[in-house]
Amino acid sequence: MFEVKSDPALWEKLGMDVERFKNMPPMLTQAYTNIFLGQKNRPQGMAYFDDCVANIHTGRIHELVAAKEAGKPVIGTFCVYVPEELVLAAGGVCVGLCGGAQGSIADAEKILPRNICPMVKSAFGFKVGRICPYFQAVDFVYGETTCDAKKKTWELLDQYVPTHVMEIPQKKGPRDKALWLEEVKGFKSAVEKITGNATGTQEIAEAITLINGKRRALQRLNSLRHHNPSPISGKDMLLIQQIAFYDEPNRFIARVNDLCDELEGRLREDIGVAPVSTKRIMVSGTPMALPNWKLHHIIESSGAIVVNEESCIGTRYYKDLIDESSQTVDEQLERLTERYMKIDCSCFTPNDERIDQVIKEYRESGAQGIIDYCLQFCHTYNIEAVKLRQACEKEGIPFLAIETDYSPEDVGQLQTRVEAFLEML
Ligand code: SF4
Ligand code: SF4
Repeated sequence: MFEVKSDPALWEKLGMDVERFKNMPPMLTQAYTNIFLGQKNRPQGMAYFDDCVANIHTGRIHELVAAKEAGKPVIGTFCVYVPEELVLAAGGVCVGLCGGAQGSIADAEKILPRNICPMVKSAFGFKVGRICPYFQAVDFVYGETTCDAKKKTWELLDQYVPTHVMEIPQKKGPRDKALWLEEVKGFKSAVEKITGNATGTQEIAEAITLINGKRRALQRLNSLRHHNPSPISGKDMLLIQQIAFYDEPNRFIARVNDLCDELEGRLREDIGVAPVSTKRIMVSGTPMALPNWKLHHIIESSGAIVVNEESCIGTRYYKDLIDESSQTVDEQLERLTERYMKIDCSCFTPNDERIDQVIKEYRESGAQGIIDYCLQFCHTYNIEAVKLRQACEKEGIPFLAIETDYSPEDVGQLQTRVEAFLEML
């Protein structure tokens, strides 16, 4: 029987609020069982990812603690603009810390204003409430200057855990590239100072190859799910993309590729998780950090299937690779910067490349409509949804924009809107 495991002694060692946190594994066990384990015809390869969730507060945390004890610092990041390759090259371990849980919002609201993005509040609340073993395990965190909510929260977060900030420009011209490259170099030096390891061409090349391998595995999986019938549900795919941010990369790549092999077999026999006639939805917009499965659960329990996520916990994380042919550190950092500059977050202006990318992914995924997902108070994605709607109208693509948070209060209302949208397709 599935169970999210507990280890109060480990949590105590990490300085967590154990009394409060001990309620979390049973709650997650219940939610995960209800949302994931009742799905029909799941691929066998999902067993590994179920296991990742079962060990989310124990097994993986033991690995992080062991890494720290072996002298490898653990670095937390919040955004796909922070180059994990440079953390790995310097001998560190990288984990994503974005928060997708309602349970830590009240902790954050004791300090932060209420009217800001739930992802920022959830992450900040995890730290101030001492209710996230990942936050407790990291030696320091790396934030960035993408949106105002995050940028200003880092100043407060620094009072609880050392927080470094990488400046990300708002445009993508030559001057911005020069600034970005300098920031990447600064990031490399900062990470090397903390790990105590200088990184040369060899270490960077190995890290680039490793993370390219992770991105290739996710690309392969995403293109397999585009088949009709889709061989894997949107919820399972979202879960795998979420796990990509904290699992050990070599193991993750191997398990994703095993799953792809299994799905290729399913495709040969035309086995899907839903009939060919199932309505196919692409989701675009703001990221869905663990354990935010709200919209996917609504869509798939309304009888449709999600076939693509244009999101940072989705294609924005893995659509672009870094050129592996560089011979010097300078060239490697240039190529790395160029790759990171292709990420089309709405915090950039202009950002027309994202509009084109959404349409491209819509066509490739065989979707029949787009649901644009915006976290409350995320102004840049919310405003960009206007342009996205205009582009979809021009292309004749059915489009629904929703704005929501992590609370269960609007689930009924969202369900009604999603069902009406599906009806119309
Ligand atoms: S949406 Fe923008 S700010 Fe948020 S994680 Fe993605 S790139 Fe970073
Ligand atoms: S979803 Fe928007 S407001 Fe929230 S952290 Fe990302 S960019 Fe900032």
